[in-house]
Amino acid sequence: MHHQVLNSVIKLTSHNDLEALDNCLVEIVADLVPTEKIELIHFYFDKERKTIANTLQIVFSPNNNIHTCGFLKDSDISVAILGCVTANFPVLAPLSDKQWHFILPIKVNNKVEGCISLTSAIDLNSHREIIEGMIQIYANHLRVINESERDELTDLLNRKSFNKRIGRLLDVQRNEQIRRSKEKQSLKRRKPISHDKSAWLALIDIDHFKQVNDTYGHVYGDEVLLMLSRKIKENFRHSDLPFRFGGEEFVIVLEPISAQDAAMVMERFRKEIEEFQFPRVGKITISIGYSKLGVEDFPPHVIEQADKALYYAKENGRNRVFRYETLIENGALSSTNSDSSIELF
Ligand code: GH3
Ligand code: MG
Ligand code: MG
Repeated sequence: MHHQVLNSVIKLTSHNDLEALDNCLVEIVADLVPTEKIELIHFYFDKERKTIANTLQIVFSPNNNIHTCGFLKDSDISVAILGCVTANFPVLAPLSDKQWHFILPIKVNNKVEGCISLTSAIDLNSHREIIEGMIQIYANHLRVINESERDELTDLLNRKSFNKRIGRLLDVQRNEQIRRSKEKQSLKRRKPISHDKSAWLALIDIDHFKQVNDTYGHVYGDEVLLMLSRKIKENFRHSDLPFRFGGEEFVIVLEPISAQDAAMVMERFRKEIEEFQFPRVGKITISIGYSKLGVEDFPPHVIEQADKALYYAKENGRNRVFRYETLIENGALSSTNSDSSIELF
């Protein structure tokens, strides 16, 4: 037993990838206690932590060794799970005459971030200590991974995490495309599926930010960065990935939407900042350059394109939004034009 526990801890802490860490935890718990099904559920709360905005569910069935991963609908979150999350305490709930649900909270920095739900024919209370211990080791490691991916000042994702995050996002989108095209073949649907949606990559840069620092000092400069990050978090969806890329430069990857919607979202954000009164500093503006991010595209190349559009915005009055493909189409930029101010990886 001691050996097994030690090996489990070694295995669990060897991962630095969230997906692998999740899969490892459910496998380890399945090895340690008799269970038919294990679910790991992550909760993503809204800003005030009052309501659950999104959930990610990883299910592992030890019998056939199958992992599945997906979003959980609100209506599928059981009362027992909600009870565990609100009470921050394990819950044992009968599922039927012969089965039990044993639900334990996952706490990161003392806040419930999710839960583990075990389905078993026996009362697992006697295994509680070992499961709770494993969950705590998992949670500690999760915190370290999360912190290494975030920018200290703004808490947005940092540049270092960009490749990993984008890689995962494009993987999911490729899988989704394959699934949809299979579905289409088998159903022989006549209605064409919409190909006009894609992900978008936007570069946002504060206009004349050096002047803010020069006039008000770095402390107020930092305050502006913090406020702008808050605005980014408020204005974009949870599933849109926001990064702080450099000093006063941000990257946002929009989940698949139409070109028209992307243009609308970008313009709305530019306007929102233009109209906002920053404490002491007053008005600031941003320039945005963005470009389409297709599943087969090479992300550094897309960043370069967005940067060309951003450069164009800076050259043409600032406080403006430009899309790379449009600038190419109307001849404002040529595709061989290589004015790039951002250093690539
Ligand atoms: P432009 O409109 O062309 O973007 O002009 P700009 O002044 O914003 O651009 P420039 O690249 O010349 O200057 C960026 C400034 O951002 C330089 C630096 O003082 C400031 N900066 C970068 N990182 C930080 C930070 O973490 N905190 C603060 N306060 N300022 C920063
Ligand atoms: Mg700037
Ligand atoms: Mg800049």
